[in-house]
Amino acid sequence: MKKREQSALNASDISSSLRCPLCHETVTIDDLKSIKCCNNHTFDFAKQGYVNMLQKPVSSQYDDTLFHARHNIITEADLYEPIHKKIAELIQPEAEEYTLLFDAGSGEGSHLQSILDQVNDKNIRGIGLDISKEGIIMAGKHYDQPLWFVGDLANPPLKDQSCKYILNFLSPANYSEFKRILTQDGLIIKIIPGSGYLQEIRHALFNNTAESQYENNDTVELMKKNVEIISEERMTYTKNLDEAALKNLISMTPLGWHAERDQIETFSSQGNKDITVDMHLVIAKDKQAI
Ligand SMILES: [Zn+2]
Repeated sequence: MKKREQSALNASDISSSLRCPLCHETVTIDDLKSIKCCNNHTFDFAKQGYVNMLQKPVSSQYDDTLFHARHNIITEADLYEPIHKKIAELIQPEAEEYTLLFDAGSGEGSHLQSILDQVNDKNIRGIGLDISKEGIIMAGKHYDQPLWFVGDLANPPLKDQSCKYILNFLSPANYSEFKRILTQDGLIIKIIPGSGYLQEIRHALFNNTAESQYENNDTVELMKKNVEIISEERMTYTKNLDEAALKNLISMTPLGWHAERDQIETFSSQGNKDITVDMHLVIAKDKQAI
């Protein structure tokens, strides 16, 4: 079976949780080729298995190089493995029905896939959405199981109260949409960088200038205004990376985009550096939820 058809088949299992991004009506999977609503708005499965829900292309600063680097850092260097594991422990399948884990801002999909691998339960179904088509194409190429959408976080093609888990990994949030699509007992799982995150890169490239400081206060304040925080856990650890991994790390982080080329070379060519991962894992629910 072709990838496009396999994805359409996967989507048909969960089509009752989807909605048309244009008219917000119910959709069905049409002939294992497209997602179609009752008003005939049609979105085709691409050959890599993803579906583009955007009306016009959006340009982003994220390109193939960045997503390749990110893919390698997540899947080969395993930089975030302890965090994926922790998140997987939170994910509980419903007894009879499928349960949706929606990755809001999934990029090239490796965080979501890694968590799904850890959960290892067929009833947990992953959906990844990102505005970057390059990211989603790569996700579709690498990972068959989740459903991948190019789309707008302000208008995800998901019905009200359809998702039990929303993952928001180092990515901007849209709380009004999160609350709309979250089930009554649903959880938002947000990963926010802590002050020590990638501090070795910041020290090497920016010498502790203002640019080298990560601030997450605004992110947490915004979150508190919109949703009820249930728990917050800080995870800090280091991981030793070789030269290739350091190069990938620098090219995937915004820190590297503002640095001089020779600084980047000097930093990564030394190889075998301990790199700090420092994250806040914040779990929240809708304030209105029971
Ligand atoms: Zn429609």
